[in-house]
Amino acid sequence: MKACLFEAKEKFVISDIKKPVPQKDEVLIRVKAAGICGTDIHILKGEYFSDFPLVAGHEFSGEVVEVGEEVTQFQPGDRVTADPNIFCDKCYFCKINKNNHCLDSHVIGVTQNGAFAEYVAVSEKGVFHIPDHLSYSEAALAEPLACVVYGVRRSGIKPGEKVLIFGAGAIGLLLMSLLKISGASQVIMVDISQKKLDFAKKMGASEVILNNAEGEKKLKAIAPFGFELVADATGSPRVMERELQFVEPDGTFLVFGVAPIGDMMKVEPYDIFRRDIHIVGSYAVKKTMQYSINLLASGKIQVKNLISSTYSLEDFERGIQDFYHDPDHMKIQIIP
Ligand SMILES: [Zn+2]
Ligand SMILES: [Zn+2]
Repeated sequence: MKACLFEAKEKFVISDIKKPVPQKDEVLIRVKAAGICGTDIHILKGEYFSDFPLVAGHEFSGEVVEVGEEVTQFQPGDRVTADPNIFCDKCYFCKINKNNHCLDSHVIGVTQNGAFAEYVAVSEKGVFHIPDHLSYSEAALAEPLACVVYGVRRSGIKPGEKVLIFGAGAIGLLLMSLLKISGASQVIMVDISQKKLDFAKKMGASEVILNNAEGEKKLKAIAPFGFELVADATGSPRVMERELQFVEPDGTFLVFGVAPIGDMMKVEPYDIFRRDIHIVGSYAVKKTMQYSINLLASGKIQVKNLISSTYSLEDFERGIQDFYHDPDHMKIQIIP
């Protein structure tokens, strides 16, 4: 089958590799849509915990074409998406319901071959049905939305609170949409791209502000004491350093964007102490996939407009170029 193989740091090729054979507990999926995520870029740059060679791609949807002998819930023809985090269900953390910290987890597209290919094999544990009225492209956003569902839960948002989000890409907009229906009274978005901000405004942001010194002054004027929740969806430590000042006393700073492993940010511990700041991380998905699918199926979260471009597997390079060089890009998907 055709696949995009990450061979080494900054090096990938479209090549013919062996089509996966589903193991006893696995479902073989013909990939219909697979999103390019910031994590894929970290993997490609060697800034993540993956090894080469690897077929990346962890947010996808497709059609079941074959099932292993122990699979009971799926059959060929089923429309599905997947939670790429396959937990062992046996280790210390799995037993105390902290599955996203599983000591023996496998992540499709990160530690084992993923969906930038014609076919991907996934343990039945991670596979989910999708309703007929969701397109494959929409369903391929179920995984990032599942991460956002977990992040919003972690944020502890309460009715009426004010929210500030840095980063108006696809993830920032998903955060905005979900925080709004979770009770936020206003969600303000900050980005360096005016085009992204215009789009965020159209998608329902209360206010949008360009990320510069002038923008910081505006934020201070809007909320002199800060925001109950400030969420980062940029993954840039340099930007994050500037974000903490906008957290209201006893408010929360949600580290949602993925920064490169090893990069540091400057924090003044006295400030965290003096202003009772909560710093909260949010790693991946914790059994939130079904809720994400429910939100997409109900239409409460709209993702169709978040897809800014689609490319064939052969044109993977163009998708990566968009990611690097088009500051206005939203979700880029590969349609194998
Ligand atoms: Zn991702
Ligand atoms: Zn485990």
